[in-house]
Amino acid sequence: MANTENIADNTHINNDFERVYPPQPIPPGPALWFPFQKQRFLVKAQGQNITLLQGEKNLLANIKHEELLYFGRFKGQPCIACAIDPDETLPAGWKAIGLRELYSQLSGIEYNIATYASQLINWHQTSRYCPVCGSPMVSVEGGWGRTCTRGDYTGYPPVIPAIIVLIHDGKRMLMAHKPGWGKRYGLIAGFVEPGETLEECVHREVKEEAGIEIEELQYMNSQPWPFPSQLMVGFMARYKSGAVEPQDNELDDVHWFSPDALPELPPPSSLAYILISSWLKQYGNHK
Ligand SMILES: [Zn+2]
Repeated sequence: MANTENIADNTHINNDFERVYPPQPIPPGPALWFPFQKQRFLVKAQGQNITLLQGEKNLLANIKHEELLYFGRFKGQPCIACAIDPDETLPAGWKAIGLRELYSQLSGIEYNIATYASQLINWHQTSRYCPVCGSPMVSVEGGWGRTCTRGDYTGYPPVIPAIIVLIHDGKRMLMAHKPGWGKRYGLIAGFVEPGETLEECVHREVKEEAGIEIEELQYMNSQPWPFPSQLMVGFMARYKSGAVEPQDNELDDVHWFSPDALPELPPPSSLAYILISSWLKQYGNHK
């Protein structure tokens, strides 16, 4: 059963982290490090315990790496992101962890900062050359933008919106199943198309995937989903009309579940889980 006590704090504003935009020199003194090697986050490991890497500006002095990105301050300490050369051997006591596994091992805010760092590194690695003419790109002053040295293109770190919606009829919620998900069910979700509002996208996806009409569409919360750069936008809606039936090849089952007979739920780190939990709080027989 969903436990609303364990919901990650990633939908709330956290004032401990403050974004810093380039270009700014890295301040002297201790810093928190967010290095990645082959898309895996590097942490300090002592037995089962992992913590963020902490150290002076020269922490990576003997390790082959790319440009240091000073991107924020966490509780006043500078945060530095950096891509480590894939062939480098890691110092003793360091451990590389994939972002998906990392979720359960760091505090919500530390995990969110790590995913921000991963997206900035990814952006730097994919914006070296102009997509129009192939010339080198350089950083734009005052932000994370990158511009072509010949002046024909400027780009920014991508954020790709996708919607996810919990549909209910007051007693049951609609859940969907994709081939390969095993026993787990999720919610209706999909990418926003160019020229579409978020609301239009929800109505379209629901029609396309479940064949029904909805009403009382309400925004709930959002969550960055760094695989690699999505922003999930979560809604709740009430069933209006139509027969529920999977409409496209993406889903192999869509049906109603009541709170006392739920299937296996999405992982607690997901926005789907957060939406399901808030619906259960409102409509379920929560003890
Ligand atoms: Zn160009």
